[in-house]
Amino acid sequence: MKIGYTHRKTGQVREIDSPYDNDKSAYDALLDKISKSDKVSNFERRVAEAYANFSAGRWSYLSDAKRYWLHSLTMEEESAPRHDRGIRMPLEGIKRMLSKAGEHVKSPSIRLNAEGIELKVSIAGARSRYTGDVMVASPKFGDGWYGRIAQDGKFYPGRDSTPAVRAALSRLAESPEEVAAEFGKITGRCCFCNRSLTDDRSVSVGYGPVCAERFGLSWGAN
Ligand SMILES: [Zn+2]
Repeated sequence: MKIGYTHRKTGQVREIDSPYDNDKSAYDALLDKISKSDKVSNFERRVAEAYANFSAGRWSYLSDAKRYWLHSLTMEEESAPRHDRGIRMPLEGIKRMLSKAGEHVKSPSIRLNAEGIELKVSIAGARSRYTGDVMVASPKFGDGWYGRIAQDGKFYPGRDSTPAVRAALSRLAESPEEVAAEFGKITGRCCFCNRSLTDDRSVSVGYGPVCAERFGLSWGAN
């Protein structure tokens, strides 16, 4: 059964071929997934709650978007945008950078610009379902989920992923230093700590001297 919706702001159309005959079956599968997992995202919980409210008559209406996620959250990879499926990226460079910084700062991250969309790249901590994977989200918590790169380099796109996001990540994976520095040049902010870059030398390399040392990079050697 085809389920889809059009994003109100971006006009982006999402459609999947749901394996479930009806909403109730999709809901049962989602509850099953939630009950088997010790780390459930707020988003998964919200979608399940929406259907529960709707089916109990507390809500008169279930939006197309909620229905779409109700059916697709249990399909994980199948629900990913087609262009993003089965892509692999080398993780070593990103991880080297982040783990070096991890010796100095608590949760190091790299910021990225994907054609105007800002991304925050970090490594999932010990309490995550995906410990050690590279996670890609919006810098503003809850504002966007772009996916993760698993330890084997496989990219699992998130619900907000676009071709531009995937391309930016691929480039970061291939040449982390160069791409991380680009962010600073474009935005005038350090790609690691997000502080404004105040001197010309920092702007030209894309990060400041303190972060350069933390992340194991040369600064202003050009
Ligand atoms: Zn910095």
